Amino acid sequence: MSLFDKFSSLASDREALLSVGFDPFGTPIEEVYSPTEARIDGRRIILAGTNNYLGLTFNAECLQAAHKAIDEQGTGTTGSRMANGSFAGHRALEKELAEFYQMRSAIVFTTGYQANLAVISGLTQAGDVIVIDSDCHASIYDGCKLSGADVVRFRHNNAEDLDKRLARLGERANNALIIIEGIYSMLGDRAPLKEIIEVRKKYSSLLVVDEAHSLGVLGETGQGLIEECGVLNEVDFVVGTFSKSLGSIGGYCASNHPELDFLRYASRPYVFTASPSPSVIASTRAALPILRDGKHLRKKLWNNAQKLYEGLSELNYELGPEISTVVAVMLDTKEQALAFWRGLLEHGVYVNLVFPPAAPGKKCLVRCSVSAAHTDEQIEKIIAAFADLGSLVK
Ligand code: PMP
Repeated sequence: MSLFDKFSSLASDREALLSVGFDPFGTPIEEVYSPTEARIDGRRIILAGTNNYLGLTFNAECLQAAHKAIDEQGTGTTGSRMANGSFAGHRALEKELAEFYQMRSAIVFTTGYQANLAVISGLTQAGDVIVIDSDCHASIYDGCKLSGADVVRFRHNNAEDLDKRLARLGERANNALIIIEGIYSMLGDRAPLKEIIEVRKKYSSLLVVDEAHSLGVLGETGQGLIEECGVLNEVDFVVGTFSKSLGSIGGYCASNHPELDFLRYASRPYVFTASPSPSVIASTRAALPILRDGKHLRKKLWNNAQKLYEGLSELNYELGPEISTVVAVMLDTKEQALAFWRGLLEHGVYVNLVFPPAAPGKKCLVRCSVSAAHTDEQIEKIIAAFADLGSLVK
């Protein structure tokens, strides 16, 4: 027995994947032309799986802010927030995020993944209980592991099941941390947030909402599902990422609880990693007001989402349950999904290939995400590529 033995099944899986002539989980993007186009394998390809919902990665103000920060502050902070890595920009962004959510305070983390690790492992420990939606992102599962708390999963988007599980916990439910997402990353469905809040009111548990895929996408000012549902004051912690609608990298948590600040001392994923570099913070700060005021971007984003969802639905593909900015085509086998992914690339369209367990319900996904920067013509090209590949699922 060797430590390497566990890789043997992965190795054969990988060989099958590479048989299509590409590594679908590591295809290099050779040159990026815009938020929606890049060169892959020497060809101009439409990017339809980037989570670049508002298309801000090439926004002129964000680029300018990032260039200026590099020139003035250098390429990196070379330290954690706890040591030499807290620059004025980190603090300013925290203040701006708190204002954006009209909450008491916010903390910035190096990635969205780390934001979840930090919040969950900072708030809970062995002996506590965390109740999560079964379709939660891996970073939420990993945060639970790091905390050592007991984990109870409730059926995806099922408030009744949440209630049942909380009731079964007895007194412990009053101390539980409930975690859900705004829009779920794989199928693009929204959480039944109002129903979940009604259930939660019966207990004195705390609620975390991860708005990674809904920031900038939902709500009048882009706060996410909490804004769309009008429940800002009924959520304890909002978590999110800069790596999607804000077009950079990093994570945050905002809250009205003064205890949020203790995560700066109690959370290993905050203390023991380097802070985001100045250019990242600067472009994120430039992007935030654009996101907040970006009603026109959200309008275009949702027009595109509707057009793609309805186009693929008319082609009889099995899709997620609602029109969303994530449009996932569900397929039964890995072979089908792989052939599809490859076929789309040949048609000049890049999407995400997702296998179980990352995809829910044992399905394989060819997952698209829509951007406000996609033109009508690009959306039509994506639909036409799916139309051409229909025979792969018949
Ligand atoms: N939460 C959710 C729901 C996500 O989908 C993701 C990333 N896809 C993250 C957190 C992690 O964010 P990041 O990529 O910024 O680390």
